[in-house]
Amino acid sequence: MTPLGKILSRRIAAEGPMSLADYMAECLMHPEHGYYATRDPFGASGDFTTAPEISQMYGEMLGLALAQGWLDQGSPAPFALTELGPGRGTLMADILRAIRTVPGMADAAQIHLVETSRTLRAHQARALQGHRPTWHDSVATLPEMPHFLVANEFFDALPIRQFERRGQGWAERHVGLAKGSLTIGIGPVAAYGALDSRIADTRDGDIVEVCPALPAIAAEIGNRIARHGGLAIVVDYGGWHSLGDTLQALAGHRPVSPFDAPGEADLTAHVDFEALAHSLGMTQGVCVTPLVPQGVFLERLGITGRARQLARHLTGQPLESHVAAHRRLTHPEEMGQLFKVIAGYRKDSPCPPGFDPLP
Ligand code: SAH
Repeated sequence: MTPLGKILSRRIAAEGPMSLADYMAECLMHPEHGYYATRDPFGASGDFTTAPEISQMYGEMLGLALAQGWLDQGSPAPFALTELGPGRGTLMADILRAIRTVPGMADAAQIHLVETSRTLRAHQARALQGHRPTWHDSVATLPEMPHFLVANEFFDALPIRQFERRGQGWAERHVGLAKGSLTIGIGPVAAYGALDSRIADTRDGDIVEVCPALPAIAAEIGNRIARHGGLAIVVDYGGWHSLGDTLQALAGHRPVSPFDAPGEADLTAHVDFEALAHSLGMTQGVCVTPLVPQGVFLERLGITGRARQLARHLTGQPLESHVAAHRRLTHPEEMGQLFKVIAGYRKDSPCPPGFDPLP
């Protein structure tokens, strides 16, 4: 058993089963043994690869989408160029390079990064040398100013609770111990007000997931956009509604059991975009776009033209990798359909590019 597995087993033996959300939070962010707290999980040698690590084109497209939003809203200066969960800092570095082509934008940008992992903050500092970012432990301390914000695979790392439908009530799925091993167990059936609306669209035995931290985070961002203007683009995997057990553990690019190696595998769950859209758009003054598949979004922003332009300078293996990266980001059988994009933006400003069908 991993060191964190031993700690959590002892705690469960003494105090009883823990919620899946508490388990996930410990596995990802335990200060000594947590997955993000202790390592750089990205890239070929790590446990998973994210879109910004696949190709610079991804950050360039997102950067230009933010730039169009910034121009459409009258080029506010200064403004916060913000990222939630910046990983290695690659996405922000690519965004900064892309927006240099927009007069005045880079000079007006103050970079704000929301990141809890000290290890990843060090990576971000290296990737963004010369840009003097400000780090935050949570969105609560983000400054009161216009925010042009991205979050790529941030919300899927937030801890979730799972509930199983039992008649008209719900039984929470807990993490407990069976024969000395960590395993999922079922708590007592109860009514949960927050799940009342799900009685209509679920059947006995269905599992629904709730992300307790999501509403407050989305609302903080929505409030800033409502007060000061801005645009938030969120990319993640998931769908419009949470249904079924989507908790997933990855180690060495392979799926593993979420309970086998706590602290040593990445744990994620699909993002409930309906909940995200609801909290982001709750404040008057914010519009939320439709949910768009990543592949469609990137095509509308012109990724294929950019891919062709970059391909002109490449031959052999680098060219093959470049073509594969374009396919991986956009093709429906790769990331193109599973990953979705949504944005919140200041009401009365134009819909940001990529979210409206082209005329
Ligand atoms: N956006 C990056 C990294 C995605 S992984 C990319 O696409 O490559 C998730 C990131 O969110 C990591 O940087 C992780 O440390 C951070 N993170 C996870 N939970 C967090 C939380 N509750 N608060 C702040 N950052 C968090």
